[in-house]
Amino acid sequence: MKIIRSIEEMKTVTRALKKKGRSLGLVPTMGYLHEGHLSLVRACLKVTDICVVSVFVNPTQFGPNEDFKEYPRDLLRDTGLLEQEGVNFVFAPQPEDMYPSDYKTYVEVHGLQNKLCGKSRPAHFRGVCTVVLKLFNIVDPDIAFFGQKDAQQAIILKRMAEDLNLDVNIKILPIIRDKVGLALSSRNAYLDPRQRQAALVLSRGLKKAQEMFDQGIRESELLLGKIKDEIKTEPMVQLDYAEIVDPVNLEPVSQIKKKALIAAAVFVGTVRLIDNIFVNFEEEKE
Ligand code: AMP
Repeated sequence: MKIIRSIEEMKTVTRALKKKGRSLGLVPTMGYLHEGHLSLVRACLKVTDICVVSVFVNPTQFGPNEDFKEYPRDLLRDTGLLEQEGVNFVFAPQPEDMYPSDYKTYVEVHGLQNKLCGKSRPAHFRGVCTVVLKLFNIVDPDIAFFGQKDAQQAIILKRMAEDLNLDVNIKILPIIRDKVGLALSSRNAYLDPRQRQAALVLSRGLKKAQEMFDQGIRESELLLGKIKDEIKTEPMVQLDYAEIVDPVNLEPVSQIKKKALIAAAVFVGTVRLIDNIFVNFEEEKE
């Protein structure tokens, strides 16, 4: 496994591999890897000749009062894990190379970036799209792998790829959870044991909504009420939002008539956690 820090070197290496006819997969991450990230890496290794994993805590997707500085970082541990998996290249660029002082260009996906998480993180998806497009341009992957954990991000990136005619196939993989249901996240490292326990109301609330849906309840208000009630049982957890939306345009739906996304975000102390599920009808299941 080779660790590459220079943008130019990454470009040279991937261009040479593509010239030789090798298929290339990219797994973009911000590091501090867990089994969720590794599930993407394994999927990539299965279907492409070469797997590139980027590890870059992207400053432009953090708001001014967010946790960019504190975000957990451990490149040595990450590269150890990736080497064990059989990854070919780790791309870990420097922020000042990705965003030199005269940097001016950003990518925005209007109409989607301001919904759900975008309401409390107004510049977040602009930062995500910008860095992902840069990574696509640097690595030139045939396939890029993302997690359903960040449902809105997945929807926005697919839109960006289609709108900008990008030659990359975007694959979205299921959420990996721990034994008790908590969606794995690098930010879980911020939680003390009591907070970690409290955070379970988020996945539990979504699960209860899923059960109600399976029993035939289609009114979003009732399903969301269940999630909010569950979250209220835990005084250490504050709701940011819970919404049921159309997975294409992210517009709220009041009565579920086709596949819908139930997405929610909470604060456990200052730590913001997200989770989601899809509800679907039997005949539409993928
Ligand atoms: P991050 O390092 O948080 O930017 O995440 C990098 C990629 O891993 C994104 O595509 C995430 O959606 C994905 N990811 C993060 N957590 C999980 C999880 N629990 N299950 C599946 N994918 C995940």
